[in-house]
Amino acid sequence: MQHYDLVIIGGGPIGLACGLEAQIAGLSYVILEKGCLVNSLYNYPANMTFFSTSDRLEIGDVPFVSNNAKPTRSEALEYYRRVAIHRKLHIKLFEGVEQIDKSDEKEDIIYTIKTTKSEYQAQHIIIATGFYDIPYLMNVPGEDLPKVTHYYEEPHFYALQNVVVVGANNSAVDAALETWRKGASVTMVIRQDEIGNRVKYWAKPDIENRIKEGSIKAYFNSEVASIRPHEIDIQTPEGIVTIENDYVIAMTGYQPNLDFLRKIGITLSNDEILKPTYNDDTQETNLPNIYLAGVICGGMNTHSLFIENSRIHATKILQKITGKVIHNANY
Ligand SMILES: Cc1cc2nc3c(=O)[nH]c(=O)nc-3n(C[C@H](O)[C@H](O)[C@H](O)COP(=O)(O)OP(=O)(O)OC[C@H]3O[C@@H](n4cnc5c(N)ncnc54)[C@H](O)[C@@H]3O)c2cc1C
Repeated sequence: MQHYDLVIIGGGPIGLACGLEAQIAGLSYVILEKGCLVNSLYNYPANMTFFSTSDRLEIGDVPFVSNNAKPTRSEALEYYRRVAIHRKLHIKLFEGVEQIDKSDEKEDIIYTIKTTKSEYQAQHIIIATGFYDIPYLMNVPGEDLPKVTHYYEEPHFYALQNVVVVGANNSAVDAALETWRKGASVTMVIRQDEIGNRVKYWAKPDIENRIKEGSIKAYFNSEVASIRPHEIDIQTPEGIVTIENDYVIAMTGYQPNLDFLRKIGITLSNDEILKPTYNDDTQETNLPNIYLAGVICGGMNTHSLFIENSRIHATKILQKITGKVIHNANY
């Protein structure tokens, strides 16, 4: 069994940032990622543009140069790929972590990490597993039909089709505008009475004007009630409305895998946020030498942390592990 000073779970931007810090500190480490490199970003919509400027997505002091101030998904994939390859980060891809057990055999704390492919031992573990793996379901009949997706990729596929987009935040607005511009007939189903106020400042007036002029139909204060192969029922304030429908793009958000944290013994707050327990100065959880980094730290509050304000976790954790003050970057 391979032994490391540090095992990092999750090869997203923050897991990579932790790897870079571990490398600088001279620790033996490995990053274990269940999918491809920066798997969540890879699964974002093909044409998405980040709301952050590229300098705020940088990790390990490596400059991120993009064509415009706000980079696209493909520029971000290129950036993190080049960081991982150029800095020779130790990463094992397509290897998910399933279980962590504490070994009581020795005085030192040693954890055994079981993955889909192997087993490792480590003194320290960082969990940076993000929030993009589990979509919020609508829990309505027909949600399991193949025409329903919770991950929107790109618009061409939907040309000349009747598309329902569920939700009113960034992903829903992007999907609605893009598919409409590629010739889909788009209906939005929105639980609230307006477009979300976190929607990117350049997209919000665009969608509001398309709705106002009637190019995109929107049902506010409404929810999907039922989905059938060629129709969809929408529960509106005026009652059920049934429309023809070919595809449903349900942009209803995602939640972190908090069961994984519970299973290994990390405690969560008793309220609806389910915030994991950790020390704000060191990111260490209630389990000794197990740390949390990145968006997972927010529990169900997945909008409080993102790349730009959680890069700092890498520095804090490595400072705790090595006992040395790290003066990192501009975070
Ligand atoms: C459409 C969209 C736009 C966004 N725009 C911005 C922006 O402009 N600026 C910004 O700062 N943030 C933005 N964010 C948020 C940002 O992408 C996330 O906050 C960021 O990805 C968090 O990084 P992370 O490393 O914590 O998690 P992730 O990037 O989600 O990485 C976690 C990784 O862990 C892996 N993993 C999960 N479970 C396991 C396991 N058991 N074993 C092994 N690996 C596992 C996952 O496959 C994943 O690769 C955006 C998010 C979305 C959805």
